[in-house]
Amino acid sequence: MREVHVIGGGLAGCEAAWQATRAGVPVILHEMRPMRATAAHRTERLAELVCSNSFRSDDAEHNAVGVIHREMRALGSLVMASADSHQVPAGGALAVDRDGFAAAVQSAILAEPLITVERGEVDALPPADWDNVIIATGPLTSEALAAAIRRLTGETALAFFDAIAPIVHRDSINMDVAWRQSRYDKVGPGGDGADYVNCPMDRATYQAFVDALLAAEKTEFKEFEGTPYFDGCLPIEVMAERGPETLRHGPMKPVGLTDAHRPTQKPYAVVQLRQDNALGTLFNMVGFQTKLKYGEQAKIFRMIPGLENAEFARLGGLHRNTYLNSPRLLDDRLRLKAEPRLRFAGQITGCEGYVESAAIGLLAGRFAAAERLGLALTAPPPTTAMGALLNHITGGHIESIDAGPRSFQPMNVNFGLFPPIDEPRVDAEGKKMRGPERGMARKRLLSARAGVDMAAWIATNCA
Ligand SMILES: Cc1cc2nc3c(=O)[nH]c(=O)nc-3n(C[C@H](O)[C@H](O)[C@H](O)COP(=O)(O)OP(=O)(O)OC[C@H]3O[C@@H](n4cnc5c(N)ncnc54)[C@H](O)[C@@H]3O)c2cc1C
Repeated sequence: MREVHVIGGGLAGCEAAWQATRAGVPVILHEMRPMRATAAHRTERLAELVCSNSFRSDDAEHNAVGVIHREMRALGSLVMASADSHQVPAGGALAVDRDGFAAAVQSAILAEPLITVERGEVDALPPADWDNVIIATGPLTSEALAAAIRRLTGETALAFFDAIAPIVHRDSINMDVAWRQSRYDKVGPGGDGADYVNCPMDRATYQAFVDALLAAEKTEFKEFEGTPYFDGCLPIEVMAERGPETLRHGPMKPVGLTDAHRPTQKPYAVVQLRQDNALGTLFNMVGFQTKLKYGEQAKIFRMIPGLENAEFARLGGLHRNTYLNSPRLLDDRLRLKAEPRLRFAGQITGCEGYVESAAIGLLAGRFAAAERLGLALTAPPPTTAMGALLNHITGGHIESIDAGPRSFQPMNVNFGLFPPIDEPRVDAEGKKMRGPERGMARKRLLSARAGVDMAAWIATNCA
């Protein structure tokens, strides 16, 4: 049988290759590292996580990310299996030891006889005799390939800033000031309810911190001018520019936390740090993506109580993202309408995040294999998390607002992408529910509907 070519051995490419081989279809997986580097990858491993080590919420009852985890597990995802076997404590989130995770994905890929890994950049459109191709080259697609895609599609790939949050050595944190606690003491996979390190701020310290962020020197933007930020990943100094209170309603919110050293004193704001490696020696500053200059970062972050003497294993940084105007360019099986032998997967399609990229890779791998085998494979229904995300990318999104510039933006999976469901008004005992209760009940209904519909899709399509 002829191979499917997968270009890019990241989250999406590895998952796509794995899924295609589950159906018995051979794959050649092309990865350019180590011959050619990207601005963010640091190793030559497949499936390297370039920033946070979190796969986000694992709560399948109330969170769409948890729902997509559940669906991917049900579909035999290599990325999820590797994450599950290398998780580190992180409250209600699924976080992983990044080295263990990437090593697990890589060894599974290398051990699979139907996969051949070829190291080297694909620097032009794939040759004409590659009749079934998945392009999963990610936010940092090499320039030559990006230029070739741009020439083919006639579309200008959009770019925006993504940012790396700083990582701190655990033993440089002052635990006489900071304390361990997960928000609302939530116990998640592999956690114990006290997974985060919390650094409290009083009002005066918070205001001085915000002032320092505003005054600090930022990285030059010239080459990125006109590029929109992705709202889910704003640099902290940009959040600070939006208003003095923005940060304490965002990553520095003090809710669900009690200062263990001064339990009667409510912090005005809290900086949280999450475990970053299996050893527990490194912690990342949650939500602290930044484009501040390195010298400024060290100086300003040491204003945070508990981090006065912080040693940074890595400071924050800025990166470019590349993604297609997929609703216009791709069909509902992720194929380029103008050249259907080329299918796209991962972040380049306009989804956002490790989990979402792997999920779209999973679907692309299955679509490509079905096509090779001459089998029909429908897309999962939009009531499922994977179907909702696919739908957003390939058609569910409006093209522009008020005939203005096109509005397609990278998107994390969220319940807002799911078709609405009637909100319940009364609980199981017939008692009237209040707003927040109703919201939670609605999420449970959306999750339950997704579960039923995904099971039905699997039974029909994946027997
Ligand atoms: C700086 C930065 C920080 C991020 N932080 C987070 C985060 O904290 N959490 C999160 O969920 N997501 C984050 N993301 C997004 C994250 O990178 C993606 O969601 C995810 O890795 C995308 O998966 P992918 O498989 O599409 O791309 P990648 O994982 O990047 O994989 C693409 C692969 O293709 C290879 N490649 C590129 N061009 C070629 C070519 N021409 N030929 C052969 N190989 C090629 C690359 O080397 C790479 O291995 C971040 C992205 C960036 C850039």
